[in-house]
Amino acid sequence: MTDENPIVSEAARQMSICNACRYCEGYCAVWNAIEFKPVLDSGYIKHLANLCHDCRDCYYACPYNEPDHEFKLNIPKAMGEVRMETYTSYVRPKFLKFVIEKPALATILASSAAIAVAMLYASLVFGAGKFSTLPMTTVIPASTYKPITMLVYVYTIGIWSWEGISYWSEINGGTHFSGSGLAKGAYDAIFHTNFRGGGTGCKVPEERNRYFRMSAHSLVMFGFIDALVSISFYPDIFGLAGLAYLLGSLAVSTGTAALIYLHMKERVGSRSQKQSSMDYPFTILLFLAGITGVLVPISTGTAWFNWNFLMHDALIAVVFLLAPYSKFVHPVLRIISLIKYNSDSLKQTI
Ligand code: SF4
Ligand code: SF4
Repeated sequence: MTDENPIVSEAARQMSICNACRYCEGYCAVWNAIEFKPVLDSGYIKHLANLCHDCRDCYYACPYNEPDHEFKLNIPKAMGEVRMETYTSYVRPKFLKFVIEKPALATILASSAAIAVAMLYASLVFGAGKFSTLPMTTVIPASTYKPITMLVYVYTIGIWSWEGISYWSEINGGTHFSGSGLAKGAYDAIFHTNFRGGGTGCKVPEERNRYFRMSAHSLVMFGFIDALVSISFYPDIFGLAGLAYLLGSLAVSTGTAALIYLHMKERVGSRSQKQSSMDYPFTILLFLAGITGVLVPISTGTAWFNWNFLMHDALIAVVFLLAPYSKFVHPVLRIISLIKYNSDSLKQTI
């Protein structure tokens, strides 16, 4: 395989050695997928990289790992580097590429700007002293809240779709879309089928199988979906919807705290550093959004309620606006790769 991109070429070199070895078969979908294509071209390597869940099982299993061996293999790191290439190359519109290339700076600037705008709005429109005493529906009326959130959602989903279509057209490689592949891909994504390192859990943060990372990821994913659905009932967020929002926010903050802990404890060199640099700022942003979400029902009736709610909304807006240029592009590309993998897989068995 030839590719002018050295990161993709290096991953292809490593995968061609694995294709001859195949010891890691059964750990995840990547090892089945390399059998489906005799020539691992650039698009297919990107597809494999987005199938990889970074569980590190193949890292600990491999006797040819760098720097000890002439083969210098490190599959999780190589896959992570290629994933970063795909996240960067599919940024749409392209001029926003700098956002994903400077994740910490972008996250800090965007969050600071959003909080500053929210605080200025509260102080200038209502007066800082009076703001905290007004009813929530006066300071943030539903007639303003709903169209603004809808606009943000439409923007994020529109950009995600644009990025996803570009990715699909490069990795598809002539595979016909399959409805069963779509259903199985969605199932695998929801139930984290490939997150289990062959059925016994991930070797993260060290060489011991456990379901800790999968559980943390599930908390973030399901908590985020739950919070998203329950906040759509705004301004009715004090009854059942409020309880659901509290639980969702709690799940997001606990899950992100666990993921940050795992990143800090994992073995240096067992994954792409570039990927870690992108993961940290966005995970911390999600954690802060989760914590301020937990404080929404807890601060009800206090002078802090309106300030916290406003800050929480500002952080959530940043999460959505940065999503297509951050860690949150991975659900889109991974689901597309899972659909392709399952479509290819079903084709093999026909
Ligand atoms: S990662 Fe190492 S052990 Fe696993 S298939 Fe590749 S060469 Fe073999
Ligand atoms: S790190 Fe885990 S998910 Fe990624 S290729 Fe290796 S075994 Fe598969």
